Amino acid sequence: MSFSQLGLSPELLRALEDAGYQTPSPIQSKAIPACLEGRDVLAAAQTGTGKTAGFTLPILERLSREPQGHKRPVRALILTPTRELAAQIGESVEKYGVHLNPRLKSDVVYGGVKVNPQITRLRDGVDILVACPGRLLDLVGQKAVRLDQVETLVLDEADRMLDMGFIHDIKKILRLMPRQRQNLLFSATFSKEIRELAGTLLNNPVSIDVAPRNTAAESVDQSVYMVEKPQRMALLTHLITHHQWSQALVFTATKHMANRVTQHLQKAGITAAAIHGNKSQNARTAALSGFKNGEVQVMVATDVAARGIDISELPNVVNFELPKTPSDYVHRIGRTGRAGASGQAVSLVMPDERGQLKQIEKLIGRTIPQASAEGFDFTRAVPETPDEREQRPGGGQRRQGSGQARNNGGGARNGGGNGRSGSNNRSRSGGSTGSTGSNEQARPARRRRRSSGAGSADNSGNR
Ligand code: AMP
Repeated sequence: MSFSQLGLSPELLRALEDAGYQTPSPIQSKAIPACLEGRDVLAAAQTGTGKTAGFTLPILERLSREPQGHKRPVRALILTPTRELAAQIGESVEKYGVHLNPRLKSDVVYGGVKVNPQITRLRDGVDILVACPGRLLDLVGQKAVRLDQVETLVLDEADRMLDMGFIHDIKKILRLMPRQRQNLLFSATFSKEIRELAGTLLNNPVSIDVAPRNTAAESVDQSVYMVEKPQRMALLTHLITHHQWSQALVFTATKHMANRVTQHLQKAGITAAAIHGNKSQNARTAALSGFKNGEVQVMVATDVAARGIDISELPNVVNFELPKTPSDYVHRIGRTGRAGASGQAVSLVMPDERGQLKQIEKLIGRTIPQASAEGFDFTRAVPETPDEREQRPGGGQRRQGSGQARNNGGGARNGGGNGRSGSNNRSRSGGSTGSTGSNEQARPARRRRRSSGAGSADNSGNR
C-alpha cells in the first residue's frame, strides 16, 4: 500500500514526501480511508505508530475540500492530555498542511502560558484547533472560541486523559459541539472507562487495533532487576556506564525522586536532566531539546511529563520505580522500540513493588525475565518461592553479569541510536491568565483524588 492509494491530495502527498515517509504505517492505512469516508474511528494505538498522521492527514484533506469562508470557525478539534503532546500535534498539522493552497489555519492552546496571546490569535479564526481540555474551557468561558461548528473531534491519548481526571472537562466540551460530527478516539489501552466513553461518543465506529491491546511492544526487550532501595541509584549508574547506554529515559514516580536521581547521575559525571511539572516550561523545553539533540544522555521524568514523547530510536527506558497503574508500564516502555527499532526496558523492582510487578505481568500477559548485574547481589531483595522460580522463563535462572535479560551474550545492547526528535509532555492550565496557571493535569487530578481516592501514579500531587 502506498500513500497515493489512500485518497490524499497531491499537496498532502508532497508533504509526506518532504517528511521522507515512504509507506503508510498500519494505523495510517486503516485510519485514513475510514476518516476520509467520514466514519467514526476507535483506534488502539500507542504513540510511535504514526497515529498523529493517521488522523491529521484526513482532517486536512476533508477540510481543504470544503469552501473556506471568511470567518474561520473551528471545524476540527483535537483534544490531547498534555501541553507538549498538543505542541507536537500542532507541528504535525503545520508540517502536513504546508503545501495546501489555500492554507488551513491551525493553532495550539494549553495552560501554563499567558492566555491573552491565545485569545488574540483565536480572534482571527482557526480551522483546526489542538487543545488541552482545561485551557480550552477557559477560552470558551472567555468567549474567545466557539465549538458549535466542529465537524471532527479527535480524542488523542484518551486513556491518559481519563487517568488524569479530564472526563468532566471532556463531557463539558462535548456539550459545546454539534451532535452531528465525526469522532475519532485514539487510546493505547482500553479500560472499562474508555470503553464506556467510546460507547457514548462513537457512532458505528471502524475499530482499528494495530497493537494488541494492553500488550507491551514486541520489539522491546524487557527485564527486571530485583533491588533493595539503597542500591537503586548505584545500579542505575552501573547500568548506564557499564553498558555505555547512548541515551536513556528514566521514570520515577515523583518529581522529588526525579530531582534526586538527576542529581545523583550528574554527580557520577553523567549528563542528566529532569523533566516534571515543577519545572518551568523553559527548563522543560531546554531539557527535552538537550535530550533530542543528544547533549543530554539521561532524561529523568515522571509519567505525565514524559507522556507522548516522540523520540525516535530511543534505546533504553528505565523504570527506576514501577508505575502504580499497570497500563502506565505499557506507555512507558512504548517510548523505546518504536517504528520497528529495537529497544530495551529495564525495571528496578524493590521488594515492596512486587505486587505492582505482578499486576504489570498480568496485564502484558507474560513474565518479565529477571536480570542481575555483576557486583550487585539482589538475591535478598525478593525471596522467591521455589514455585515462582519454576514459573520464570528458563526455570528461573537469574541471568548474571549481562545487564540485560535477553540477547545478552554478556554484552549490553546499546541500541546504537541516539534519542532524537520529539517532544515531551506536561501541560498546565487552569488560571485564565498569567504564565503560571495551575497545572493542566494536577487540577483535575486533585479533584479526582479527593472524590475517589483513585488515580494513577501521576495523579498524586507530588508526581
Ligand atoms: P506518532 O505515533 O504519530 O507520534 O508518530 C511517531 C513518529 O513516526 C513521528 O516522528 C512521525 O513523524 C513518524 N511517522 C509517522 N508516519 C510515518 C510513516 N508513514 N513513515 C515513517 N515515519 C512516520
